[in-house]
Amino acid sequence: MALSNIQNSNNKSAKKVMRQCDQMAEFTAMKGGLLRAYLTPEHKQAHKQLALWMQEAELETWQDSVGNQWGRKVSKNPTLPTLIIGSHSDTVSNAGKYDGNLGVLIGLEALSVLADVDLPFHVDVVAFADEEGTRFNTTLIGSSSVAGCFQQDWLAVKDKDQITMGEALTHFGLSPDEVGHDARTRQDTLAYLEVHIEQGPVLEERDLAVGVVTGIAGAKRYQFTLRGMAGHAGTVPSDMRQDALCGAAEMILAIESYAMQHDVVATVGKCDVKPSAVNVIPGETTFTLDIRSLKQDVLESSTLELLAQLDVIAKRRNLSIENEQLYKAKAVPCDITLQKLWGEVVEAETGKAAFYLASGAGHDAMVMPNITDIGMLFVRCEKGISHHPKEQVIESDVGVALDCLVAMINRMAVKYS
Ligand SMILES: [Zn+2]
Repeated sequence: MALSNIQNSNNKSAKKVMRQCDQMAEFTAMKGGLLRAYLTPEHKQAHKQLALWMQEAELETWQDSVGNQWGRKVSKNPTLPTLIIGSHSDTVSNAGKYDGNLGVLIGLEALSVLADVDLPFHVDVVAFADEEGTRFNTTLIGSSSVAGCFQQDWLAVKDKDQITMGEALTHFGLSPDEVGHDARTRQDTLAYLEVHIEQGPVLEERDLAVGVVTGIAGAKRYQFTLRGMAGHAGTVPSDMRQDALCGAAEMILAIESYAMQHDVVATVGKCDVKPSAVNVIPGETTFTLDIRSLKQDVLESSTLELLAQLDVIAKRRNLSIENEQLYKAKAVPCDITLQKLWGEVVEAETGKAAFYLASGAGHDAMVMPNITDIGMLFVRCEKGISHHPKEQVIESDVGVALDCLVAMINRMAVKYS
């Protein structure tokens, strides 16, 4: 095929993926916006559409025990375990069209492009039915089932209408007893690849279409409660106050300055004041901390140091401080060999040195190391905006990511044979 023809077909493929992202966004529970939660009619409709596209690409299709949609490019003579490519098809409320869905559709299109190529392994593309946790506040349900770490007690978790996950599975036509029974194993999986929008501004800042992900940052979340003494805004002298909000203010700035000097990002995203009145000294303040790092040891030591700093501030200000850990997730590195292969294909496809970056957001790839090595590629998104209707990608970047994925699959066929 002449080069111009290849480029034309790639342009066509990128256009097709963009169109499919638009079509997927039509399966929504929200008027004028996108919301597709786990085990809902929209989930069913979207996966039905995906299955049709998978069949058009001559893939074998099935739905698994937890409601993930699969398509398999069957190898005539598989001498290696199966390669899995995936991302998620569920969304947050008032979402963008590309978070998760773009990765599923690029994976599907890559297999469509490779339809006539016989590979030494089956390639599965999977749309994980829940990553965001929009309905049950439990994230990564779809990929956890595949990776063998679905927790049976999740079946009892209720949504806002008091429907348990188990009941929702039954309504959907699935059997709660069978969830996770079709988990994959290390023996039958070659690797897991995921293409995802960056959800941050770094690639745009560097004018790059794609970047190789080095790993997914670990995270911890806390809620702090500071207690001082409420009092009259006019009568209590400044040096006799135990102002819980001033204490929180000093702590929040200490957190900011700590993050700037260490290999972490830290955010105070929520702060409540009691009694919250114009003429009353704040007696109680609660605030949250979200701290992340790609290096698990740095995350651990930084958290300890920060907690100690906050204690010192509380003591000096005569405030009591309590903390409650709300969440923790371990840092997950991407496989070095897969990073190197992604780097080679990015250089070959873009003519520029590959750029490597960490993911500050969680992804399905986080749980897959339970059964296999992971490799991720990020696609630039406008201004780093995500989880918002303004989420946007450039069609030509989608073309680059698709070319990289196709090249990656070909390269893996050679490298692992
Ligand atoms: Zn996502």
